[in-house]
Amino acid sequence: MADAQAIAEVKAVYADLAQRPLERDCLRRTECCQFKLTGKTPYLTAGEALIAANAIRATGKNRLPEKKDGSCPMLTPGTGLCMIYEDRPFGCRSHFCAAAGGPYTRREVVDLVRRLEDVDHAMGGCGPQTLPAAIKSALERPRFSNGVSATASPRSRGR
Ligand code: SF4
Repeated sequence: MADAQAIAEVKAVYADLAQRPLERDCLRRTECCQFKLTGKTPYLTAGEALIAANAIRATGKNRLPEKKDGSCPMLTPGTGLCMIYEDRPFGCRSHFCAAAGGPYTRREVVDLVRRLEDVDHAMGGCGPQTLPAAIKSALERPRFSNGVSATASPRSRGR
């Protein structure tokens, strides 16, 4: 699957999630972005990682910022805000934050998860990876001007 097609499909999944009649209200407290404290790290499929990597590049960065405190590399030092919030992965949109309404049940989003997995498969992936590993891999992935990759990097299975 071409990168542009993968990006379009994953963004359609994000848009469809936003249309679900489920009460969630992310207040951007970023508590769920503290992976070491929560003990939970989002897993990303290849298409999600591609979108996140492009969003990072749009900030002028070509590498994943290093974090030594166990928080998400996308938390901006100083402000503590997500640097890719509009392009944040599915797990960040359907997270477990109690203040935002708690986690979606699998039944509520299983069709969307399957669509993300289908994109991952079509890109040659093997399933979700942890957020840092998935985005690092996407940033290292060969890029072409037409947005199509000649090779797809393998992905290991995760959440
Ligand atoms: S990508 Fe953004 S919203 Fe998701 S865990 Fe990282 S900082 Fe939080």
